[in-house]
Amino acid sequence: MSKNKEANTNCLKSKRCPKCKSVGPFKVEGHALFVLHDDGTEDGGGNIEFNGDSYAECAECGHHGIWEQFDRSEMEDLPNGTLILYKGHRYFMSRGLEGRIVTGEDGNWQFIKDLNWKKYKVLHQPKK
Ligand SMILES: [Zn+2]
Repeated sequence: MSKNKEANTNCLKSKRCPKCKSVGPFKVEGHALFVLHDDGTEDGGGNIEFNGDSYAECAECGHHGIWEQFDRSEMEDLPNGTLILYKGHRYFMSRGLEGRIVTGEDGNWQFIKDLNWKKYKVLHQPKK
């Protein structure tokens, strides 16, 4: 159980605290079916079930929300000035408040809160 700073590759693949950017560990609320005897449980519980709506908490900073919000957005890796196509609109990527992304479309600036965009297409990416 290392507190690694590198990218996760297994259970925590593409997971990151949206607040402090820690890549784990995280506390996630799950449900398990276990055998209960008069003197206690038989084992530590088998498969623990949880999903994107499960309560989750960052062990590092205490930030909490639902597990889905701990998805690390690929968009965070896109450099400023990247032009993307999303829902038929073109947006320029740039950094905003608290690491969120502020985008501008045709000169009109917008504050996009939803970092869980799954469907977008990179049209142009500036060289770093
Ligand atoms: Zn955190």
